Amino acid sequence: MSSASNSRITRRRLMGTALAAGSSALIFGVRVGFSQTTGPFSLPPLPYAEDALIPVISSTTIGFHYGKHHKAYVDNLNKAVEGTEWKDKSLGDIVKATFGDQRKTTIYNNAAQAWNHTFYWNSMRPSGGGEPAGIIADHVKDSFGDYTKFRQEFATAAVTQFGSGWVWLAQGPGKKLVILKTANADTPMVRGTTCLLTCDVWEHAYYLDYQNRRLDYVNAWLDKLVNWEFASQQIAA
Ligand code: MN
Repeated sequence: MSSASNSRITRRRLMGTALAAGSSALIFGVRVGFSQTTGPFSLPPLPYAEDALIPVISSTTIGFHYGKHHKAYVDNLNKAVEGTEWKDKSLGDIVKATFGDQRKTTIYNNAAQAWNHTFYWNSMRPSGGGEPAGIIADHVKDSFGDYTKFRQEFATAAVTQFGSGWVWLAQGPGKKLVILKTANADTPMVRGTTCLLTCDVWEHAYYLDYQNRRLDYVNAWLDKLVNWEFASQQIAA
């Protein structure tokens, strides 16, 4: 390898690291916050250590889920957009622009999964979960009646999502909070819905720890991991 290509790769790696670090810091500062404005896209750093969500999610699950699955979506997206106009767009813009286009399913699926996974990692934190406090608690009460009803509705959506998909707390029209479920890579953000939280219910998210017991995973996720601060930061004023 020539020294010229060596230094180019090093520079690209350094830039990728800087962009990834920047996007992580900004996730909590702006509404969506995936700050990379063009490709090639980098895998954003996890907001915590791989073992930080034990005992709800093992480091083995996080290791595969983040290090293999999420990474593969980012890598496959970069391959799919190489040499196309899409490489100069932001991740969010790619997801929105390719949604529903049967000729762009590879780009859409990988871009949406890259976006959804970054949103998922930030929807969790160590020692999270349980009832929210502050403004988000008021929104939950206004929209669902009380926290118990919200918890029940979210868990029911998770177990009734047939096959792979996602469950979301989102802010619909009129600022009311709603629980949505989407299949495969689909994400409510393509319709302009403000996403507040998401729980990944693909089997790869829980099977090593819970096998077929999706409800146990989702209840533990709600009780111990939900990052309500992140949800509050996404909410429209
Ligand atoms: Mn996943």
